[in-house]
Amino acid sequence: MEKITSLAKRRGFVFQSSEIYGGQNGAWDYGPMGIELKNRIAQTWWKEMTQLHDDIVGLDAAILMHPRTWEASGHVENFTDPLVDCKKCKARFRADQIPEENLAAKKCPECGGELTDTRKFNLMFKTHIGPAEDSASIIYLRPETAQGIYVNYKNIIQSNRMKIPFGIAQIGKAFRNEIVTKNFIFRTCEFEQMEMQFFVKPGTDEEWFGEWRKRRWAYYEKLGVKMDHLRWHQHGPGELAHYAKDAYDIEYLFPMGWRELEGVHNRSDYDLTRHTQFSGKDLQYIDQDSSAERYIPYIIETSAGLTRNVLMILCDAYDEEQVADKGNDDDWRTVLRFHPSLAPVTVAVLPLMKKDGLAELAQDIRKELKEDFATDYDQGGAIGRRYRRQDEAGTPFCVTIDYESKDNGSVTLRFRDSMEQVRVNRAELAARLRKEIKEYKRDLNVRVVRG
Ligand code: ATP
Repeated sequence: MEKITSLAKRRGFVFQSSEIYGGQNGAWDYGPMGIELKNRIAQTWWKEMTQLHDDIVGLDAAILMHPRTWEASGHVENFTDPLVDCKKCKARFRADQIPEENLAAKKCPECGGELTDTRKFNLMFKTHIGPAEDSASIIYLRPETAQGIYVNYKNIIQSNRMKIPFGIAQIGKAFRNEIVTKNFIFRTCEFEQMEMQFFVKPGTDEEWFGEWRKRRWAYYEKLGVKMDHLRWHQHGPGELAHYAKDAYDIEYLFPMGWRELEGVHNRSDYDLTRHTQFSGKDLQYIDQDSSAERYIPYIIETSAGLTRNVLMILCDAYDEEQVADKGNDDDWRTVLRFHPSLAPVTVAVLPLMKKDGLAELAQDIRKELKEDFATDYDQGGAIGRRYRRQDEAGTPFCVTIDYESKDNGSVTLRFRDSMEQVRVNRAELAARLRKEIKEYKRDLNVRVVRG
């Protein structure tokens, strides 16, 4: 993880928030490369969930919601973590994340000091709206994006004539006052979620629950993620959230071990029933195809962390490879093997020399490619070193312009993963790149990781 954190900073993926003031815990800033990667992950998810599904539409609800929302959803009452403090070293822990014997003996796992009693701690950030700071002005930063979907579900049925089964997708910020934020951007107080709520007829929920588990698994497969680094974890009775009838997590093998990446939940009719009770509005669905039958739909939720997906993609892409082809045993390269559709820069244009018109020609080619691809341009230093820089940033393709390019209009196309180079005519370059992106398949056998 240290290597990934340092690469992320060095290459402008992720910076600690407010670093010049010593940093703000639980908050991170996405730099020029990070925002591109995050945006592409979000776009890929959005396309998968909306464009490729006729029965799913999008929404962008406000972060600030009526405070009754969070009473109805159960978050005011139930969205708590068990907290213990060490009286000696002042370390703070989630009671469910320290060894049971420490908890039983009230012994700090770090310094052996005495632990406080466990107390419940609500994870919602509270603030005030308007000038008065009294109980009537309390408002919460949303701890999940889902509720914005539930309170709009009737609006969407009416405005977009949706029929059950159908889904609503949303990407947006969520906030949780996490007790322990560690492991880089894995668990933060401010993060982004990509959630889809699928509304189904009661009785069909288990079938849809299975279907969405299959679809979400296939999504990661399509992204080219190392599938032996993914597994399912079903929530036991003690783990189920207050709204859940059944829940599975997709876990990823992060450097610190197996951790949740995404949850697929059967939320039953809990949320809409509660919003009916708390708002006094009838949130039943009227099934016009089935003699106006009325019911509160069940909801299958797929809830993935966008920022957690950024971390997963960084970890999954990270490789250190020995490039022994030059007879130099110590020639290692760091390479981020992003899927080309996720890479912050798709193609880097590199003139072999600055002089003799090569730089101008390269700029001209870059200008042509810019319309269709995220490009970078680098004319400084030895070509080998420039390739390494692009490898480390995860750029899948480099185009090198040399003297032959001036003579016959051909360029060298270099592939990040295999380091292979081929000559391509300038006129065919864009089409070739499009084909390579579409047909990209990651070769998982090429890696040799430094011990
Ligand atoms: P945990 O038990 O780890 O606190 P959770 O089960 O409460 O997580 P969910 O409420 O199911 O998490 O949230 C759905 C997804 O949102 C998670 O799978 C994760 O990817 C993301 N997520 C949740 N909390 C955080 C956080 N603090 N920082 C970053 N991502 C988060």
